[in-house]
Amino acid sequence: MKKYIFDSYDDFYNEYITVRSPQCIECGEDCELVDSEVACYIKDRKLQFSSMLLLRCKNCGREYLPRYSKQMIDGAYKIVVEANEFQGVFKPLGSKQQFDYCKEQNYLYDYRDYFNIPGLCEDREHYIEGFLTPVYFEKEALVYFRVLPEYEVNICKRSIVGIPTSNSRS
Ligand SMILES: [Zn+2]
Repeated sequence: MKKYIFDSYDDFYNEYITVRSPQCIECGEDCELVDSEVACYIKDRKLQFSSMLLLRCKNCGREYLPRYSKQMIDGAYKIVVEANEFQGVFKPLGSKQQFDYCKEQNYLYDYRDYFNIPGLCEDREHYIEGFLTPVYFEKEALVYFRVLPEYEVNICKRSIVGIPTSNSRS
């Protein structure tokens, strides 16, 4: 279980407002989302989450709290304070969401990916919640979708033509 300890709500709030990039601040390598059990202590209150997404560096393993996970912690903290409790246990209610812009296509997203991967939900150009473009992923991710009958995967190959740079011209 991963533990996060904050001496005060202000300490947590400083972390909450810190914007994380998808790269590790220690080594610069890309981070990936991992699901973890988390215990978060804010002052004298303990919040336990059976499932929370963290950004983990692929190189050094350092972990960071993504924005949406911090929102979950903040919401849970306020619930516990309002109930005058000193601990709370929180479980996920489900992770699929249909965004308004794609209701006709019946697309269901794992909203946790959308809200936790830095940059995905901050598309200022389109500003439509849930809209994803472009989408980058490792091609191995397609293996999962190719074997499930409810998905159809079309793979297109694009030729890349090399254009000589000014340095390579003689
Ligand atoms: Zn790292």
